[in-house]
Amino acid sequence: MNSELLTARFVSLLGEAGVRENEPMSAHTTFKTGGPADLMLLPRTEEGLVSVLRVLREEGTPYVVIGRGSNLLVSDEGIRGAVVKLAQGMDDIDVREGRIIAQTGASLKALCLESIRAGLAGLEFAGGIPGALGGAVYMNAGAYGGEMKDHMTSVRVVDRALGIREIPAAEMDFSYRHSAAMEKGYIVLGAAFSLPAGDPQLSLDKMNEFNARRREKQPLAYPSAGSTFKRPKGNYAGTLIESCGLKGFSIGGAQVSEKHAGFIINTGSAFSRDIYELILHVKEVVLQETGVVLEPEVKMLGEF
Ligand SMILES: Cc1cc2nc3c(=O)[nH]c(=O)nc-3n(C[C@H](O)[C@H](O)[C@H](O)COP(=O)(O)OP(=O)(O)OC[C@H]3O[C@@H](n4cnc5c(N)ncnc54)[C@H](O)[C@@H]3O)c2cc1C
Repeated sequence: MNSELLTARFVSLLGEAGVRENEPMSAHTTFKTGGPADLMLLPRTEEGLVSVLRVLREEGTPYVVIGRGSNLLVSDEGIRGAVVKLAQGMDDIDVREGRIIAQTGASLKALCLESIRAGLAGLEFAGGIPGALGGAVYMNAGAYGGEMKDHMTSVRVVDRALGIREIPAAEMDFSYRHSAAMEKGYIVLGAAFSLPAGDPQLSLDKMNEFNARRREKQPLAYPSAGSTFKRPKGNYAGTLIESCGLKGFSIGGAQVSEKHAGFIINTGSAFSRDIYELILHVKEVVLQETGVVLEPEVKMLGEF
């Protein structure tokens, strides 16, 4: 099928608002960099998602699923094929008797606030992470001693055969910034949590204190994707990078943050290539100087 016919087919499934051509990925990443995706698809229902996946499969069009783009570095050349964005719509959060069931597009901030409003504790750590639920489950995002997996009971996914399944959380192989979704190709549709009762004011204070710590320590005034590297065993990436004298080091518009060396920031004019080269440089210097291999936490999409 030629690309015009294919686009028309997606428009018939998702409506005009659900299909964009040559969409600049810089508008969909918190780094604010990245070239165009040939096609961006924005399904608002599970059925819409499965039907576009079916067409993409039939046509042999490569695709990638994203959420709020807060952990992504997208190539300046963009992405060939389709980007399926699950961060608009599919964002219900249902609270019932100590249980929360949230859809993939729900923001972590909304999830945290809804749980607090319902008098439930345990998700305060997530209130300042700028992702959507689906991306956070995929990444097993975490902060301040909490991780997405902690109170999770099950995850709703689309599997490789395009079947919708509920997977018990215990079968999701969660570990530090890892989930079974990475190996099994699951697309996360939602997750259920069973949370202990809490005092809403205490939870709110806790969330606000975490967010104040973020504002104090992190370079939130600049575009970034949060911590660039995973935490190496027994150490902190930021501490190692700082010890190598790399704080403030820059390539083009990408800089190792002066405020927190664990963050690479876009000072305004960065290309993804600058960020990528800075990641490689930091890795190399840290390896030479300390013997520690840093592994990027940020996911790279497109050709580098
Ligand atoms: C200022 C700042 C602070 C941050 N602080 C933290 C922090 O404290 N802790 C932390 O863990 N992270 C942090 N992050 C990183 C990021 O917010 C998290 O990793 C977040 O969970 C990513 O969610 P997202 O929706 O933006 O996913 P995206 O960045 O869009 O995608 C991330 C990965 O998940 C995959 N993906 C996305 N949605 C789905 C889905 N529905 N199904 C299957 N795969 C999917 C993508 O293909 C990609 O591989 C921070 C980022 C920023 C910018």
